[in-house]
Amino acid sequence: MSGVLDVSSPLRRAWLRELGIERVWPATGQARTDARGSQETTAQPAARVAAETAARGASAAEGTVASHVGNAIAQPAAPQADAPAQAVTPSPAIAADPARPAPARVGGPAQLYREALANMAAAPRPGAAPPVTEAEAKSWTSGDPDADWAALQQEVSVCTKCALSRTRTHAVFGSGPREAQWLLVGEGPGEQEDRQGVPFVGRSGQLLENMLGAIGVQRADGDVFVTNIVKCRPPGNRNPEPEEVAACRPYLERQVALLSPKRALAVGRVAAQNVLGTDATIGSLRGRVHRLALGGKDIPMVVSYHPAYLLRAPLEKSKAWHDLKRVSGIDESQ
Ligand code: URA
Ligand code: SF4
Repeated sequence: MSGVLDVSSPLRRAWLRELGIERVWPATGQARTDARGSQETTAQPAARVAAETAARGASAAEGTVASHVGNAIAQPAAPQADAPAQAVTPSPAIAADPARPAPARVGGPAQLYREALANMAAAPRPGAAPPVTEAEAKSWTSGDPDADWAALQQEVSVCTKCALSRTRTHAVFGSGPREAQWLLVGEGPGEQEDRQGVPFVGRSGQLLENMLGAIGVQRADGDVFVTNIVKCRPPGNRNPEPEEVAACRPYLERQVALLSPKRALAVGRVAAQNVLGTDATIGSLRGRVHRLALGGKDIPMVVSYHPAYLLRAPLEKSKAWHDLKRVSGIDESQ
């Protein structure tokens, strides 16, 4: 998947039309430069957070989420949202690695200040557990990944490690092939997902498919593995409790150890905060490429809005479009 978008597909055009930006994307698919760029890294107003929370049918206020493990090195925003993500500058921690070239610093003090703020906002919570190492993750596998995958699926389907097991109909392991190049992480199954045992099958699932289709990623073609931070439905679609997320975390780690995603997308504040181990607002997490340390892997990841939120706040869809372009533009070498 390259950073250049072809808008000739009817599905992609349908979504662009929904966004009202179809006209600005020429049929050649050449990305237009949009001056708004990193403005989108500004903190998200509380009202929007509340709306997103409401979209999940939950009542928890922002910042009450999960103190669970996780680690990520946030990277500053590329200068323009439409610029291919190859332009993303590595964080100081990454640049310190002698194997990686030091980043060329661009922009004046204001830009540096914005970057510093953004990095502070995504700093891991104190006490967050260190990421699983590659060696540790390898030790979980038997050398037969298909068998390990089937065993993991079986384990999840009968799991009783947290209270959500008592109210679920089906544990929702995830959908998509183990070879998928994309990893999509949501919050938790909703009513339909609980009933069917498949993630993102309700209205938000439909929007999600249209969004992914717009950048040429087809769930039906096995381009993406879709899962959630908790595999069982929180009753009434409330936010998962920190202990539920923590209990379920090893499954996500083991899934990623057996998958080989080249890029990841976390949708919604709750998923993003938990996988990154931060309390930063979704507004501050969007607009740049993070490093997702999961299952002994280090995966470039972008954060975007949850489709359930976008259904309620359709004007935000254009921001989600920028996020998707950013993640689809991630170079495989990153
Ligand atoms: N919302 C999510 O976060 N995940 C699903 O699987 C469905 C809705
Ligand atoms: Fe097990 Fe995760 Fe379901 Fe809790 S949410 S019962 S940890 S599979």
